[in-house]
Amino acid sequence: MELLTSFSQLPDARKGQGKQYGMDAILLGDMSLFLLKEGLRNELNNHRSNGHFSKYYRQLFKVKLPHQDTVKDVSCVLPNHELEQVRMDLMSRLFEQKWLRDYRLLNKYYLVAVDATGVMSFDERHCEHCLRRKSKSGKITYFHYVLEAKLVTSDGHILSLASEWIENPVGDFDRQDCERKAFERLAQKLKKQYPRLPVWTCQ
Ligand SMILES: [Zn+2]
Repeated sequence: MELLTSFSQLPDARKGQGKQYGMDAILLGDMSLFLLKEGLRNELNNHRSNGHFSKYYRQLFKVKLPHQDTVKDVSCVLPNHELEQVRMDLMSRLFEQKWLRDYRLLNKYYLVAVDATGVMSFDERHCEHCLRRKSKSGKITYFHYVLEAKLVTSDGHILSLASEWIENPVGDFDRQDCERKAFERLAQKLKKQYPRLPVWTCQ
């Protein structure tokens, strides 16, 4: 599986020898929460002790399911850009292999929608990159937004091409980061990753 090969090449922050699970098993263990529609990591851990489940999991994915504590510990320290690069490289291969040609607008352009979405918000500052907003009552909310570029197909599929976090720099700054500034960074990222892609953008 091409995805597992890409996962296995990701940097592993774990020190020492004798690791039981490679990065492919770790990342697939993370994705399994969604693939198997599990709400909690604990539920997956419970399934691990079921012989039938473990056997079918191994047959299907060719790797063993790690304990979710290990999955969380390793994937939490994996830099965002590493995983994003895996996703962008997979999309590049789909374009190169012409799998998406039939979805072009006017037989020429790929339709790309760009929009920002809120990911999380907090009553207290949660990290040095938080955006912040003050309400009329004086209450400050801290939050994170991400700007997404999605390929939209005529049959209703939406495939993520690239993401750019809207976040403040460390230290002093005059103005907070915003969607417009993030769009400039996102456009550069799209150009670099998909240099010859004919794109029709809606924002
Ligand atoms: Zn934060």
